[in-house]
Amino acid sequence: MGLIVQKFGGSSVADAESIKRVAARIAATKRSGQQVVVVVSAMGDTTDELIDLANQVSPMPNGRELDMLLTAGERISMALLAMAISNLGLEARSFTGSQAGIITTSTHGRARVIDVTPSRIQEALAEGAIAIVAGFQGVAQDTKDITTLGRGGSDTTAVALAAALDADVCEIYTDVDGVFSADPRIVPAARKLKSVTYEEMLELAASGAKVLHLRCVEYARRFNLPIHVRSSFSNLEGTWVVKDQPEGGSMEQAIISGIAHDKSEAKITIVGVPDRAGVAARIFQAIADNDINIDMIVQNVSAAATGLTDISFTLPRAEGSRATGIVQKLQGEIGFQSIQYDDQIGKLSLIGAGMRSHPGVTATFFAAMADAGVNIEMISTSEIRISIVCRESDVERAVKAAHTAFDLDADQVEAVVYGGSGR
Ligand code: ADP
Ligand code: ASP
Ligand code: MG
Repeated sequence: MGLIVQKFGGSSVADAESIKRVAARIAATKRSGQQVVVVVSAMGDTTDELIDLANQVSPMPNGRELDMLLTAGERISMALLAMAISNLGLEARSFTGSQAGIITTSTHGRARVIDVTPSRIQEALAEGAIAIVAGFQGVAQDTKDITTLGRGGSDTTAVALAAALDADVCEIYTDVDGVFSADPRIVPAARKLKSVTYEEMLELAASGAKVLHLRCVEYARRFNLPIHVRSSFSNLEGTWVVKDQPEGGSMEQAIISGIAHDKSEAKITIVGVPDRAGVAARIFQAIADNDINIDMIVQNVSAAATGLTDISFTLPRAEGSRATGIVQKLQGEIGFQSIQYDDQIGKLSLIGAGMRSHPGVTATFFAAMADAGVNIEMISTSEIRISIVCRESDVERAVKAAHTAFDLDADQVEAVVYGGSGR
């Protein structure tokens, strides 16, 4: 008997009707003779609403308590889903992340899964039940406190369980038909990808394509577990995330597989930094010591007359004020002139393994940006990715222009967005 893990995102379980629809789908899989483990997200925009609520009672909610609050969202949907399934005549048992054996680090808000001990899930399956697991949560190995895995983390719960249970596949059900060449909410002409490699999907997820959580792709690659991203609103075949493109696919391999965008970053510029050894190390060490991840960095050539340079870097907007404060404290020691903070930036990334063997991608990309009147502020590249920073207000135009410039536009519209608020 096969074992399948199915994960349903928030928009797929937004209300009672949707929960019943999803329950019917799960019941059909179970009745086809498979063992089924389901991972479920909080209903609709519940997580955002709980965060808003927390911010109303405290400007800086305590991490432990915030995790306690947010995990309640998934507990609601898991119990409702189990009830809806049992109403269809099948046995379903819901489990919190902790009960399902999701063991994590103790960093609240972005804990990492370090072990999965799913004995209670295995018991439930052995007794013929469907196991429903609350996504995006676990329990810290050392503190025993409840943790969350970061926004979008239910995908990671699903893949971690699928790997631990040696499932055949992990199905990620969402509100679009698969992984597209760009966000279907922005580019209606986006194309659905039949398959995408872990390598490309990692770059897409890291560059802001939130259709899959970054850690879930890392996890799937480590265990070579296939992920099938598909819609819970249609029966269409979705996108397979796999190790290699299927045989024969490589001939037609597009140069660019996808375009991702990200409006969640900010840019800090440190103006008039003395250009001497050790200064950049001092600044970035202070930021790292505070557990803040930075993304792109640009340092200019110092002006000959002054020996001063500017250093710019991008980071999550949510960390903006904390990072500015940390850098500000170094002003006396380093002697830079000022700090500029800019949270009106957007990032756009082109991703494709085909880039390796095709020169001229950057030239085509930049020409498209110029034609669209988009000013490029920062650039960074990897072997299979080119990213730029521009004005946030230019991002959507830039994505559409790049999509067209690389001949990615579909002849007929296939990018349907079935639900969700895109929040
Ligand atoms: P869920 O609630 O099911 O986890 P998410 O909102 O996290 O859903 O992810 C699905 C959304 O990801 C889509 O509605 C779409 O707007 C967005 N998205 C961004 N980039 C892409 C892409 N390249 N392909 C498909 N969806 C994308
Ligand atoms: N409910 C959580 C969120 O909104 C986790 C998830 O949906 O994956 O981020
Ligand atoms: Mg998601």
